[in-house]
Amino acid sequence: MPIKKIVIVGGGTAGWMAAAALSRLAQSQLMQITLVESELIGTVGVGEATIPPFLNFNDRLGIDEAELLAAVQGSFKLGIHFVNWESVGDSYFHPFGNYGYAVDSVSFHEIWMRYRMAGDTRPLHQFSPETMAAMHRRFMHQDEGAELPAINYAYHLDATAYARFLRRYAEARGVVRKEGKIVTSDLHGESGFVRSVTLEDGAEIEGDFFIDCSGFRGLLIEDALETGYEEWTHWLPCDRAVAIPSRGDGTVLPYTRATAHSAGWQWRVPLQRRNGNGHVYCSSFMEADEATRILLDNVDGEVMAEPNHLRFVTGRRKKFWNKNVVAVGLSGGFMEPLESTSIHLIQSAIAKLAGVLSLDGVTPAQEETFNRLLGKEFSRIRDFLILHYKATKRDDSEFWNYCRTMDIPDTLQEKIDLFRLNGQVFREEDELFAETSWVAVMMGQGIVPGRPSAMAHSLDLDKLREEYEGIDKSIRYVVGNMPTHDQYLERYCPAAMAAE
Ligand SMILES: Cc1cc2nc3c(=O)[nH]c(=O)nc-3n(C[C@H](O)[C@H](O)[C@H](O)COP(=O)(O)OP(=O)(O)OC[C@H]3O[C@@H](n4cnc5c(N)ncnc54)[C@H](O)[C@@H]3O)c2cc1C
Repeated sequence: MPIKKIVIVGGGTAGWMAAAALSRLAQSQLMQITLVESELIGTVGVGEATIPPFLNFNDRLGIDEAELLAAVQGSFKLGIHFVNWESVGDSYFHPFGNYGYAVDSVSFHEIWMRYRMAGDTRPLHQFSPETMAAMHRRFMHQDEGAELPAINYAYHLDATAYARFLRRYAEARGVVRKEGKIVTSDLHGESGFVRSVTLEDGAEIEGDFFIDCSGFRGLLIEDALETGYEEWTHWLPCDRAVAIPSRGDGTVLPYTRATAHSAGWQWRVPLQRRNGNGHVYCSSFMEADEATRILLDNVDGEVMAEPNHLRFVTGRRKKFWNKNVVAVGLSGGFMEPLESTSIHLIQSAIAKLAGVLSLDGVTPAQEETFNRLLGKEFSRIRDFLILHYKATKRDDSEFWNYCRTMDIPDTLQEKIDLFRLNGQVFREEDELFAETSWVAVMMGQGIVPGRPSAMAHSLDLDKLREEYEGIDKSIRYVVGNMPTHDQYLERYCPAAMAAE
């Protein structure tokens, strides 16, 4: 059946990202795109930290960065500061960018290990421009700087304002928005494909293809098609969150902070005029009242709203694409926001969908390819998140005792074993997290290689010395010449009043 009408169900971050990305089709009149959302139901209202590939999404839509950041109270994010994860009182930084650079195919962290063994006491993070800039609360785009390395970054943004921004973008390009609560859906008798959804007021919206962005419930993918859900609670046991915004204190930090508590962890996401805060916790080990108290005790700045309580089950839909429905966003699956990966998974699903979508209709090959590729991406991210919980020395609560001793997927165990052996990290195909990310978390949480690899041993340290010192010096020079993050925001993208 040819595809002429696409219906997007839901107008949260996922719905409007999908609408904006596909709006070119609506504009060219190849397809009619309708988005249905219900103000009464609302959106999940969280999800404000992103990772670097998110820049490409907006860039491909031709969105001006400064304009976007001003509209969404945006700030720059250089990485994540993890506090209390290996043990209470310690911390490390997971930067968006590399440590130094590889020499003769030997990764920089291995070169660093060689110098370290030879008595050099500098920490690895001193060779990461993103970490050094974050520590000094500085930021600047690459093109304004001296000759040195590209600063990798992402954004913190107000999720509601971002959806509003994309709505304007998509509507201007032909996407039609319908307000109303969907109460039923109708399936074709023979194929079982979704034919239409019906709103509370009786209006029926027909479609050839449906993108389910209805949030955790999965209105079409689950309620209508009963696709099933694969739970990952054994490895990622947190299942609740309580979120609250607080007033900023005038300094906007260029990084997210993730602080581990006794049965979960707390995020702080700094926007231009407020901080987003939340406590992700495991209900088997902590009650909601205690989680809220811990959050409020640890929030910086005056709180600005009542706590927002959320429930979730970590895992993924057994199929993201089922018949003529593709689940994008929370309807497709959820892993806690420890590494800010949910919006990325929305972006990735949209990119894959745009790649395989055909005007001629739906085929099993499309469904199969989409499900396999997105499934792999979910699993790799899952392993990376589990690492944070598994690699702990904490024994101060039942929750941490559980995490420290739990079984982990073989794929993750293999990665840890290889790294312990000689510091190697192999990136699987187009896995999202690159070597630096794995190194940052493993080293940050006490997984230390026994010895550098044979290749690293073959390097002549004396010959490398000048280059090694050069990296350190250049980073100090570049970071030293950056404006503060606050100064840069003020100059480049001060929050528009409408974004408050
Ligand atoms: C605690 C927490 C923290 C998070 N932090 C981050 C983060 O830092 N970074 C990140 O990348 N991601 C984060 N996420 C994930 C992120 O919030 C989501 O991926 C993102 O907001 C997308 O949500 P969504 O659009 O899929 O769903 P929602 O925001 O829930 O939107 C669902 C939409 O469907 C509509 N809808 C539902 N039912 C009906 C109906 N019957 N009729 C009509 N319309 C309907 C709703 O009105 C709404 O418009 C976090 C999630 C949680 C739970």
